[in-house]
Amino acid sequence: MKNFGAIAVGCGAMGSAITYHLAKQGVRTLTLEQFHLNHTNGSSHGKTRIIRTAYYEHPDYVPLMKRASELWHKIQDESGNSLIMTTGGLMFGTPDSELVSGALRSARKHNLLHQLLEAGEVRDRFRVFRPSDHEVAVYEPNAGMLFPERCIDAHVTLARNLGAEFHYNDPLLKWQANGDRIVAKTENETYSADSIIFASGSWLTGLLPDLELPLQCERQTVFWFNPLQNPELFSAAKMPIFMWQEKGGYYFYGVPDTGDGVKTARHHAGEFGQPDKIRREITEEDQLPVKEFLKRHLPWANGELRSSTTCLYTNSPDGHFVIDFHPKYRNVIIVSACSGHGFKFASVIGEIVSDMLLNGKTEYDISLFNLARFRLSKSALNS
Ligand SMILES: Cc1cc2nc3c(=O)[nH]c(=O)nc-3n(C[C@H](O)[C@H](O)[C@H](O)COP(=O)(O)OP(=O)(O)OC[C@H]3O[C@@H](n4cnc5c(N)ncnc54)[C@H](O)[C@@H]3O)c2cc1C
Repeated sequence: MKNFGAIAVGCGAMGSAITYHLAKQGVRTLTLEQFHLNHTNGSSHGKTRIIRTAYYEHPDYVPLMKRASELWHKIQDESGNSLIMTTGGLMFGTPDSELVSGALRSARKHNLLHQLLEAGEVRDRFRVFRPSDHEVAVYEPNAGMLFPERCIDAHVTLARNLGAEFHYNDPLLKWQANGDRIVAKTENETYSADSIIFASGSWLTGLLPDLELPLQCERQTVFWFNPLQNPELFSAAKMPIFMWQEKGGYYFYGVPDTGDGVKTARHHAGEFGQPDKIRREITEEDQLPVKEFLKRHLPWANGELRSSTTCLYTNSPDGHFVIDFHPKYRNVIIVSACSGHGFKFASVIGEIVSDMLLNGKTEYDISLFNLARFRLSKSALNS
């Protein structure tokens, strides 16, 4: 049986970052991935991810985001690959919308650079956007985007240089905690390790059935469009990333054209299911709300569809992450149920998980993400 310091299950945003941080701390780490590197069945593909700090979801994310951003720049320097780009960001909605009021709350509480813009100011300054007169936007100059496949590649390459092992197309089939050792089985091998980290995205609930984690896998569809007019205004040099909360609570978001068209999607528009059974074909019905949104607010972007993909959110009931020890085992960590907004934090989550395993704790406040907030299966906790 091969022995490791740690086994990470999953090589998406989280597993790759965790492996890098553990390897950096000298932990002999094995990462098991059921598919190939940068596959398109999980949550971490799709060319770009928004990074923003004026976090409407909760101000407690801001210190984490500051560190995450620092770490992305460090990884960018270490890997010599372009991973992050600042474009500025606009959060649109009515003044009392969750998106605008939440972004302002975080920006004010943490003294972040930002401006509150009236609709007319946005239309003058960023001509591609057409907010209605009753809408405003919080402008965050330091927001931007990450390039997810490159970020994962960078963490993997750097971790491998530090001695980490990655096994692709090698799903974890079974695991067991035997005292202070973990035994993990794949089709070809049985491994033993001091600890195991489940960074398995939408497959978490299936891998930890006893806990009855209240997580849901949600299908998302994402689209890239050729601009109809003024394509130069959609370049990353001119167009900020954006999120938009419309009447009825619907959220849309988008990023500038980095060579593949303008990316736009509806946030939480999906249907729910098992990660291996989610409908992968994309229909006119999926595209329609996004085209209608573009017609209302970015009409020049509403050109020919260039490409599309499906992607998975792993949602917790309150939309906050999970970063915690298994309720029964201190050498088992569960991450991250990022509810559709976690990529930007992967770098700091890697550091946090490595600290939790090596020191039993992290210096960051991660109380929002504990498992105790859920009613987990009593039998699993007591057995
Ligand atoms: C369309 C879309 C847009 C998003 N936009 C943003 C954004 O703009 N900004 C942002 O910050 N976040 C965004 N997110 C969220 C973010 O991308 C996710 O939170 C993040 O990628 C989750 O990473 P993960 O490693 O937890 O999951 P995944 O990337 O799914 O990785 C989990 C891995 O575990 C593997 N696995 C599962 N079971 C096993 C097993 N038994 N054995 C071995 N391997 C296994 C899976 O194959 C998978 O590769 C978006 C997500 C989607 C879907």
